[in-house]
Amino acid sequence: MKSACGRQSACPSSGNESFQTAPRDRTTANSRFTDVPSNGVHSAASRASPCYIVESKIQMRNVLIIGSGCAGNTAAVYAARANLKPLVVSGKHAGGQLSLTTLVENFPGFPEGIHGPELVENIKKQAENFGAEYVHGDVLDAQLSGYPFRIDVEGKWIETRTVIVASGASARWLGLESEQKLIGHGVSSCATCDGFFYRGKKIMVVGGGDSAMEEANFLTRFGSEVALVHRRDQFRASKIMLDRVRHNPKIKLLTNTVVEDVFDASQHLVTGVRLKNIATGAVWEQEVDGFFVAIGHIPNTAVFKGQIDTDADGYIISRGGARTNIPGVFHAGDVQDRVYRQAITAAGAGCMAAIEAERYLEAEGH
Ligand code: NAP
Repeated sequence: MKSACGRQSACPSSGNESFQTAPRDRTTANSRFTDVPSNGVHSAASRASPCYIVESKIQMRNVLIIGSGCAGNTAAVYAARANLKPLVVSGKHAGGQLSLTTLVENFPGFPEGIHGPELVENIKKQAENFGAEYVHGDVLDAQLSGYPFRIDVEGKWIETRTVIVASGASARWLGLESEQKLIGHGVSSCATCDGFFYRGKKIMVVGGGDSAMEEANFLTRFGSEVALVHRRDQFRASKIMLDRVRHNPKIKLLTNTVVEDVFDASQHLVTGVRLKNIATGAVWEQEVDGFFVAIGHIPNTAVFKGQIDTDADGYIISRGGARTNIPGVFHAGDVQDRVYRQAITAAGAGCMAAIEAERYLEAEGH
């Protein structure tokens, strides 16, 4: 079965080995770091990291890249090729949203398409060939008010002259067990990526915001019919987007309706859903081939709260190019982009961020 969209990579790293074995180049320093003030902002992170104040070797990097999706890995290619020996913090779910996809058909250069995990893994290998290093794990805390910047990766502090935040935005899911099992097998969070696979098929979209309206409209190009399921009878979507949906004869609106289950995980294929009308209590099953969840995204910026400027939803506010409000800290990919969210735009943004980091270092005399 063909299916869903996106962005991933298998996580070939299995542990924190990079911290122990990363070769120490001229930028690597030994030092003690015993005065890490808690600003209280990252309380969850601080709890997750019992060694909040760490006495250990602290690496000094030129470029530290947070995230290993298309944006982070592309930034790594460019930074490594500029001889900056970037360190990429890959995250526990390495590879970003490409890790949730199967065939990617719209990344230029692959006429037959390429599987998302393979694509992102290829970019990683390309970066490693030029000297990029990868460390598995999550960023638990960040100190961006001083210089060099200090980043806590799984309890170990790393100092760096520049930071590229490419931590992405995670699609919000309904949270059903069956939905999670079928991601990439008929369940998708990206119509642009996966709509093509459902030519002449029955499609369902969940959500009541602009994304759901946009996706439902877009998917009518492919599907024989599109059912739009929303849990209320009021919509967050703008009037114009909602009107387009209402006037599209291929879209059937199902309001006050929730999805109780997605079938059929045992076949690794979406075959249908069980729905419930919460106003009437009616429960029924419906055949579906493609199931698109469009209930918002969550940018992965919580750890930078109060330091990097974000909008109300947590997306980084760009100060032009790849710049954030903090000189030396750059953004790349979905963590700042709520509009395009494509592998290719993320890759382009990674390139921009690396070039800006390189220029920043040069201007600073490094
Ligand atoms: P959104 O506006 O936050 O809407 C999310 C929708 O998902 C809401 O209708 C919400 O229902 C529903 N939802 C959330 N959690 C749910 C759950 N667990 N189960 C079922 N439904 C759930 O998100 P968005 O549509 O992604 O839009 C985000 C922002 O991007 C908005 O500012 C939007 O205007 C903008 N955007 C603009 C465009 C455009 O202009 N072309 C396109 C896309 C997005 P409730 O309403 O009941 O909470």
